[in-house]
Amino acid sequence: MNKKLRKTIIAGNWKMNMLASGIKDYANELKPLVPGFKAWCDAVVCTPFVLLPSAIEALKDSGIGVGAQNMSQFESGAYTGEISAAQIEDIGTEYVIIGHSERRQFYGETDESVNKKLHAALETTLCPIVCVGETLEQRETGVTYDLVAMQVKVALHGISAELLRRTVIAYEPVWAIGTGKTATPEDAQEVCRAIREVIDSLYDKKSADAVSILYGGSMNDKNAFDLLAQPDIDGGLIGGASLKPASFAIIINAANQ
Ligand code: PEP
Repeated sequence: MNKKLRKTIIAGNWKMNMLASGIKDYANELKPLVPGFKAWCDAVVCTPFVLLPSAIEALKDSGIGVGAQNMSQFESGAYTGEISAAQIEDIGTEYVIIGHSERRQFYGETDESVNKKLHAALETTLCPIVCVGETLEQRETGVTYDLVAMQVKVALHGISAELLRRTVIAYEPVWAIGTGKTATPEDAQEVCRAIREVIDSLYDKKSADAVSILYGGSMNDKNAFDLLAQPDIDGGLIGGASLKPASFAIIINAANQ
């Protein structure tokens, strides 16, 4: 497998944190710590919807992209409180997280709704990051590979090989998210490799080799280097550590390998 075939992506997920008033300071601290990062990765921060315009403004000319953390599966219409892919694209958002485990756990998102959202995202120019991953119970029951394979298969149902090229998968073991527990680089690699094999079985080897697969789950400035060194891990989706510019910068720089 040749990692150079794929884009390396370091994506921060701020979750429901940060205020508009803090974004300028965040950007001003982060920017000088990641000189030249564009040579080895795409860096992006995924913010709450209301903070997207401030983040886009504060990070403009930095090369750091901005993403949303969710979107509606519908294109437009009578869906009070929802926000469409076209609306986030329209203000300059480049990425969108789909099917984060917190959305699945607290807001009833399913593999089927993830598939609908992925189709809707790919109607726009957004780059979707589709999250999959097992709970601790599922891992202990020994169904991690079957479960993740099913999540990937349902998410990608009906997605053409051409649109797959713009799709990113994030393997995020639920038990590792926000817990300080990280999958070992070897375990994370094995699941990411298995995901690539599933994509190969659905499309072909060329398509599978071109998909960026990220690891997420308590990635931080200490463990990032070893995780990112794995042959099938093409970047990270980072929650807690992305809120601290100094830590996030170390992770972005750790992707330069
Ligand atoms: C996440 O929110 O996707 C995540 C991986 O969080 P954390 O890095 O805090 O575990």
